[in-house]
Amino acid sequence: MKKINVKEITPVIRKLFIDANYYIEQDLVDKMNEFLEIEKSETARGIIELILDNHAEAASEKMPLCQDTGVAIVFLEVGQDVQFVGGNLNNAINEGVRQAYKDGYLRKSMVDDPVIKRINTKDNTPAIIYTDIVDGDKVKITVAPKGGGAENMSEVKMMKAADGIEGVKNFVVDRIIQSGGNPCPPVVVGVGIGGSFEQCALLAKKSLLRPLDKINEDSVWAEVEEEILTRINDSGIGPMGLGGNTTALAVNILSKPCHIASMPVAVNVQCHCHRHKSIVLE
Ligand code: SF4
Repeated sequence: MKKINVKEITPVIRKLFIDANYYIEQDLVDKMNEFLEIEKSETARGIIELILDNHAEAASEKMPLCQDTGVAIVFLEVGQDVQFVGGNLNNAINEGVRQAYKDGYLRKSMVDDPVIKRINTKDNTPAIIYTDIVDGDKVKITVAPKGGGAENMSEVKMMKAADGIEGVKNFVVDRIIQSGGNPCPPVVVGVGIGGSFEQCALLAKKSLLRPLDKINEDSVWAEVEEEILTRINDSGIGPMGLGGNTTALAVNILSKPCHIASMPVAVNVQCHCHRHKSIVLE
């Protein structure tokens, strides 16, 4: 059994959240440049260039990419031969979030009692933590600060099996078209299909972590993704909703088995600040 002291986790989480908020991943920059080449609208090209400048400026000035520095989402893949010692893992993660949002000058966006009082927790905790147990003795940590504007445009729908693949495509396309400029396009569209009510939402969120230069390993889903992407970009919403043919950069689908009577589908929308960072603790 490999032992990991949770005190090692706190500084790792702190760094990951600061880095995710300051430094965009190269695959997003490459994808935006790809679309810049084919975008027909001059206004849209100007906005894409501004977004790319913003991302470069954030990195060079060590400042957040956006004022909305997001809810602190953490994905853990924990090898089953690992034992955490020295305290509570969730507390150690939350301490890392607390330090990141304070030391990195990141906006604290979490409110407690979300309907009646809406009191800011003042340190962006609690983190939202998902844990998968996997083989081996490594721990993979992925953080994904998630902005409210894009998250608010997401939806879960308990579809009927009879709705079929055309129903799924229409639901995803309509969701993005109805969102207009609200999720700060160009967006990345995460789609979860199958599982249960809550698992399809988690699949949609996890699908956003697939690198933008990787196509779906399943060729059937790869074709569906391409068709949905084309339909979204033909809608004319464009960057920041101001017109153009760059509304979405990618559509990522993840699917799991589900009940014979069900066909849950979820769309999790991600904005042009597509922030996530990972590390593997060996
Ligand atoms: S949706 Fe994204 S880009 Fe828009 S304000 Fe929120 S975090 Fe920032």
